[in-house]
Amino acid sequence: MHTPETFPSTRPLWEQPVGCVNCPGGQQEGVGMRRALVTGAGGFIGSHLVTRLKADGYWVRGADIKLPEFGETTADEFKVLDLRERHACETALDVAGGFDEVYQLAADMGGMGFIHSAECEIMRNNALINLNMIDAAAVAHAPRYFYSSSVCIYRDMEVGEPEMPESGAYPAMPDNEYGWEKLYAERVAEAYGRRYGMAIRIARFQNCYGPEGTWRGGREKAPAAMCRKVAEVPDGGTIEVWGDGSAIRSYIFVEDMVDGIIRLTRSDLEGPVNIGSPEYVSVEQLVKVVEDVSGKRVDIRYVDGPVGVQSRNFSNARIESLGWRARYSLRDGLARTYPWIEAQVLEAVAAAASR
Ligand code: NAD
Repeated sequence: MHTPETFPSTRPLWEQPVGCVNCPGGQQEGVGMRRALVTGAGGFIGSHLVTRLKADGYWVRGADIKLPEFGETTADEFKVLDLRERHACETALDVAGGFDEVYQLAADMGGMGFIHSAECEIMRNNALINLNMIDAAAVAHAPRYFYSSSVCIYRDMEVGEPEMPESGAYPAMPDNEYGWEKLYAERVAEAYGRRYGMAIRIARFQNCYGPEGTWRGGREKAPAAMCRKVAEVPDGGTIEVWGDGSAIRSYIFVEDMVDGIIRLTRSDLEGPVNIGSPEYVSVEQLVKVVEDVSGKRVDIRYVDGPVGVQSRNFSNARIESLGWRARYSLRDGLARTYPWIEAQVLEAVAAAASR
């Protein structure tokens, strides 16, 4: 379970590391290339986004309060910065010629356990990051700004309700404080876009999973948690799952998510846009798919825990109007994710045994 004290963003500012990796030392950054800034580049989706932007031929700067946990950054330059601080946002955005695209993915976030236990940290830290980043981007004349919102901005839904479009966000009734902050940050970004002529692109992400995502420590989301639990028990073992297994969700593989982010950012589509897989499953079905790809059989013991909303069913018509489709089924995505998490689990077990 998460304890707020263990996360770097809750440490006093003077204890935060500041540094730079792969920095060119006075050369002009990305001359003749398109330049992108990815904030939150030390995190799960941000680090995959950096890799995709590099493959697209961009010069990329990553910024985050920490380096990526599971591998070297692929960014041309990576700045370790606390983006709750206005001057840190200015430093992130400071490049000769300016950035063509700014992707804001930095957030103090995690799965349901974290969202319920760290409400104050989430609302304070994320509001500071979002207010300072958009204001600094406006002053730096960033022409195009992407903001990573969440389907947590929507109200709870009944099982079997018809698809909800983006306009269903209002009247607003998010289920948790993380969702309220996201909704506020969406509105702040749009207000800055109107005043300063920035193209604002906002995606509301469904649950995202894939290799190199957080898999333990209290911040992991359901797909990673289920993979870890199944990897930790022998064939025929029992795993604990929060709730009663009936909550309905969809889960999107990280490659599909990154493709949606890029298509949206370079499009003319204004206003918030849902990005998610159309494949909705119960938590029980999610565990079954994990079982299948793991080759194990497990029993489930349902226990009390923070589950979040009962049901989801969102329209992807807007993102699909850009030619985007989720290419990975839940099974295909988990078949690529489970082996990575299993390897992490085995490595952790081996490390513990050798101590
Ligand atoms: P993540 O936690 O892996 O990445 C977020 C990054 O932000 C982390 O690396 C963290 O260190 C960084 N960060 C936190 N505080 C910071 C600070 N003060 N200064 C600089 N960096 C800071 O999360 P993710 O899954 O990659 O999510 C990326 C974005 O997408 C977030 O905005 C998140 O809210 C949003 N989102 C994610 C999901 C999902 O399922 N993963 C769903 C909905 C929305």
